[in-house]
Amino acid sequence: MKDESRICHPSARVAGCDHDRRAGDHDAASISRRTVLHAAAIGIAASSTPGKLLAAVSEPDATVEAAERFPFFQSTPVSYRKVQMQDTFWAPRQKIVREVTVPWATRFYDAAGGLDEYKKAPASYHAKPQVDDLVTIAFTEAMASVVGLHRDPAIESLIDAWAKVLIKGQGSDGYLQTGFPQGGADHPEKRWEPQWYSHECWTVGKYIESAIAYHEATGNAALYESAVRAADNMAAAFLGTDRAYAPGHAEIEQALTRLYGLTGNKKYLQLCGWLIAQRGHHERRPNFTQYSQDHTPLENQRTIEGHAVRAAFFFNGATEYVAATGNMAYREALLAVWDDFEKRKMYLHGAGANASTKNEGYSTKPYFIPPSDTYGESCSVVANFQWAHNLFRLTGEARYLDTAERMLYNAFYASLSLQGDSYFYCNYAEVGEATRRWTDTPYCCPPNIVKLFSKVGGFFYSTDRAGIWVKHYGASEADIPFGVGVKLIQRTDYPWSGDITLRVEPKKPTTFDLRLRLPAWATSHSLSVNGRTVRSEVEKGWLTVRGHWKAGDEVKLSLPMNIVRVTMPPQFKEYRNLAALERGPIVYCLEQQDIEDENASFMAPDRFYIRLDPFYIPEGASFSAEHRGDFLGGVTVLVGHVQKINTSTRDSPVRVMFVPYGVWNNRQPGAMRIWLGARKVPLIETMFPLGPPGPDATPPHSIL
Ligand SMILES: [Zn+2]
Repeated sequence: MKDESRICHPSARVAGCDHDRRAGDHDAASISRRTVLHAAAIGIAASSTPGKLLAAVSEPDATVEAAERFPFFQSTPVSYRKVQMQDTFWAPRQKIVREVTVPWATRFYDAAGGLDEYKKAPASYHAKPQVDDLVTIAFTEAMASVVGLHRDPAIESLIDAWAKVLIKGQGSDGYLQTGFPQGGADHPEKRWEPQWYSHECWTVGKYIESAIAYHEATGNAALYESAVRAADNMAAAFLGTDRAYAPGHAEIEQALTRLYGLTGNKKYLQLCGWLIAQRGHHERRPNFTQYSQDHTPLENQRTIEGHAVRAAFFFNGATEYVAATGNMAYREALLAVWDDFEKRKMYLHGAGANASTKNEGYSTKPYFIPPSDTYGESCSVVANFQWAHNLFRLTGEARYLDTAERMLYNAFYASLSLQGDSYFYCNYAEVGEATRRWTDTPYCCPPNIVKLFSKVGGFFYSTDRAGIWVKHYGASEADIPFGVGVKLIQRTDYPWSGDITLRVEPKKPTTFDLRLRLPAWATSHSLSVNGRTVRSEVEKGWLTVRGHWKAGDEVKLSLPMNIVRVTMPPQFKEYRNLAALERGPIVYCLEQQDIEDENASFMAPDRFYIRLDPFYIPEGASFSAEHRGDFLGGVTVLVGHVQKINTSTRDSPVRVMFVPYGVWNNRQPGAMRIWLGARKVPLIETMFPLGPPGPDATPPHSIL
């Protein structure tokens, strides 16, 4: 192992590491001027225009049209439907999601009685917990994302069947919700009561996003028209009223901005703004507190608080609202809240939130994320990943994508088993006992997991007026709507190798900028175009190659991947004697079964259980990277020796194999740790409480 022991957590930027170069200015003055101009333009359109969406998505410049509605975003992503993953990392998993995960999950949703209440048309008020209905609606969006990538008649017929039930169950006035504690068609007086646990808005939001995804994928308009009626019903309930309200669970915000982006109907943007503006104002309604980001108005928030999934969806939707309106007060708040998350409350593998908060939420203390206390719900990882991408679009800064990459290749990748039929609700940094993924309770996480696996290619490339941005690396082909069209063919073994070749195929010779993200983990790089070395200044984390491109031009980027022993900055006191291993974008972990220790006396004979406390990674430890194509789907492992503390004799080297965190728990269950000791210290000091027991033993506080 090359001796590059260093502080490498994103929070290291706080400690003055060279990653600070990514922190650019936000050009506040110019945005401020545009804010004034644009804010005056916001008004309410006369009516919903479902036909507008139909026209927009069938036109090749639909993304340009949508981009004009978000003038404060600096770039527009290339649709996942234009990007074909051709690697061994994402492409096989997309196939498994379609062929295994979707049938597995839909079977359970059906068995749980999902949509049962909608079958009583029109949907009625009932006391049954609404979760089964809600997650079924959410999975409709996931399935639509799957068929958007790969048409599948069986999945589409299932969506059609679910859509029929939902449309039939919808109230004649467009009201959608069925379950406790909301009203349904027969109890309208109970609608839109402000309750901290309400998922009334969340349901409408998921419904809108499902409908948009399905329409984009197939052109089917029935679900979309129904979703527009639900959005209109909601707008009529709030806009122009003095109703005291705030959503119990965010998500509706991003659904409304997307509906606005596709239709151009400013009513939806204004409803989004109305809902955001209710936070922190508690006259005539309960205060939902930090749990629902309701403790203070958004413009005053500077730290990430409360329920991690609610927080991520709220801030992501608010970021899209800022992109449409240029609201500077919100912008300033969102950037500060993100920094608090990334620098003070995010785990190395990209997850956030602590188990001990008991609310599926963030610690109230900065720099307090003990590895034994991880929560990291998969839904929050997906939503934070989306938020990171939107902050990149807002600022142009690659540092948000560096963190997005950390989430994507580690916490997110681990959330679904390689076989595709089980998942993690929580993504722990360590476990001390046998654990396994959830196999029979597909609540809220599978819809988000399936959606992101299917849509991951849509986060790889963006365009702006000047050219094309390459945000993530992986073998793929993309049809990029720039100029008259550019095909970009990426060849690489990323994330196992940092050698990347991009073949540029414009339909006709075109001048544009090609921007390549220089990952924060890369300590060196080389860049060439058609064999000639190119030097590019790094600006906001980007290498820019300006050229007159013609078919067959080739760009090569080489990012040497070294094995790095990382430690956390000193502010994280629980990590003062801990070290972990990374290579490129991959965080590694040690599973119990990969310890070659002849002394098995510390293994309890009747349980899959082992204490990993005695092991430490000393500075200068030697590891080698070995790629194993037939192991865990084809991964690069790190093989070498750690030291084992012996109380009666000298410490002894023990041969071990670290595997990528993203593929842990795909063999027999057992202990796992990302962090081992960093040096020899009295054993008592390294003995943190064991990681949380398996998810089956400890159901989460709530399930959405
Ligand atoms: Zn979840």
